Amino acid sequence: PSPTADSATADALEVLRRVFGYEAFRDGQREIIDHVVAGGDALVLMPTGGGKSLCYQIPALIRPGTGVVVSPLIALMQDQVDALRALGIRAGFLNSTQDLDERRTVEAEFLAGELDLLYLAPERLRLEATLRLLDRGPIALFAIDEAHCVSQWGHDFRPDYLALSAVHERWPTVPRIALTATATRATHAEIAQRLKLEDARHFVASFDRPNIQYRIVPKQEPKRQLLELLRTEHPGDAGIVYCLSRSSVEKTAEFLVENGIQALPYHAGLDAGLRAANQARFLREDGLVMVATIAFGMGIDKPDVRFVAHLDLPKSVEGYYQETGRAGRDGLPSTAWLAYGLQDVVRQRQMIDGSEGDDAHRRRLATHLDAMLALCETVECRRAQVLAYFGQEDEGAERSEKGCGNCDTCLNPPESWDGTVAAQKVLSTVFRLDRERRQRFGAGQIIDILLGKKSPKVEKFRHDELTVFGIGTELREGEWRGVIRQLLAQRLLAVEGEYGTLALTPGSAEVLGRKRSVALRRDPERAARAAKETSR
Ligand code: ADP
Ligand code: ZN
Repeated sequence: PSPTADSATADALEVLRRVFGYEAFRDGQREIIDHVVAGGDALVLMPTGGGKSLCYQIPALIRPGTGVVVSPLIALMQDQVDALRALGIRAGFLNSTQDLDERRTVEAEFLAGELDLLYLAPERLRLEATLRLLDRGPIALFAIDEAHCVSQWGHDFRPDYLALSAVHERWPTVPRIALTATATRATHAEIAQRLKLEDARHFVASFDRPNIQYRIVPKQEPKRQLLELLRTEHPGDAGIVYCLSRSSVEKTAEFLVENGIQALPYHAGLDAGLRAANQARFLREDGLVMVATIAFGMGIDKPDVRFVAHLDLPKSVEGYYQETGRAGRDGLPSTAWLAYGLQDVVRQRQMIDGSEGDDAHRRRLATHLDAMLALCETVECRRAQVLAYFGQEDEGAERSEKGCGNCDTCLNPPESWDGTVAAQKVLSTVFRLDRERRQRFGAGQIIDILLGKKSPKVEKFRHDELTVFGIGTELREGEWRGVIRQLLAQRLLAVEGEYGTLALTPGSAEVLGRKRSVALRRDPERAARAAKETSR
């Protein structure tokens, strides 16, 4: 018998226990479910792993008819439906991976009133045939999963999602519930507007993930640093390693395997069969490390991912939060680790300059990147800063007084130091090259000049004749890289062209003209070394 046999009177808690085998609702679930069961529209913002699925699955079981779930995660539909069927829920899906017979079977089940849940790829809802099919059966609700895919400015934009606003016009009395784990105020408002959910009740869960420890470290030898992390803190653990490019995914996976770690690659350039096989192994086997581009991960429900490591800088705080959020869905202690360096800033700024789209689009990308850079360079609690980014300042502010106790800046507070003079030295060097020689160079040359190094390139361009040659011997090369990285992050210096040459900005002039001081972060291990040297 179907779990919905006694649907009219079924109580949500009873369904939770009997069908799903869970004891109690998590924060927020009960209110959302009651609201949708009663026929109300809802916009749900809940972090990854928060338990969004039950918020539409249970109302679909309780309300008469089939719950229609729109999801962009075609590759996962089969698994999702299998998991539901294992619980005795009558679920099916329609997407482009099926042949005609399979589709016909599902359609017949729907028409016979034998489906509790029907998963649809968004493009299906653009087909008149699908709309006519849905007209013929009672529909319990529409759930729009990963609703941020309607946002044109997000990195997951799916044009088919724009058509979902028409659902309401066709079935005005059927409740709709849109769900997402992406939730800046702007995205939030955009979802409500584009899906015509202005009158929906908004449910916003806390975005805090207290069991995730956030750490952002200076990038030196990223693969070695990663290996060290896995060996010392996560031996035998399952985890995800994100890299920016396909080639670095493959190199990193090979490197880990050579060093005795079971790692698999995943990126859009791999053969679809291999990609699916690697994903299935990661989900089913214990202790595998998935090395992937951000193409991997949306909708992945693996509770015991113990770490998420980023070898390259994410493009936005939202991306960082989504990706790190795949760690620790079981609530147990987990690590979010990011290695970040000067080259990341250079590369990301170049990618924005070279990106398609208009100036407004590039400005938006730059704003996203700036927030991510500010998170990397902060001397305050990382968690507080992430929560503040999502508009949850209250929680952020409350924590920042004493700190969250579970991020690197709380555990090992970095110092900030007055970097005004150091900044002036860098900026004067860039200024002199530009003004006196009409030349632009990358960070390496600037640092060699500051340190007074007679490298072949310094001699070739006779940069040892500049008055700034050798004025920066008080810092080491790595420290100068840190200074330049932070000047770029604070937009006191700019990157130009494909070679990543450095150029002045309006802010540079203020620093050079002594109208502005510059606070810099001292990277923790450098701080430790500095302390050791002064005590000697
Ligand atoms: P989301 O879609 O928000 O990322 P899911 O709906 O996939 O999260 O839920 C994450 C995990 O938490 C799943 O394994 C789910 O079965 C489990 N879960 C959800 N609600 C509860 C609950 N009330 N009690 C126990 N486990 C739950
Ligand atoms: Zn903290």
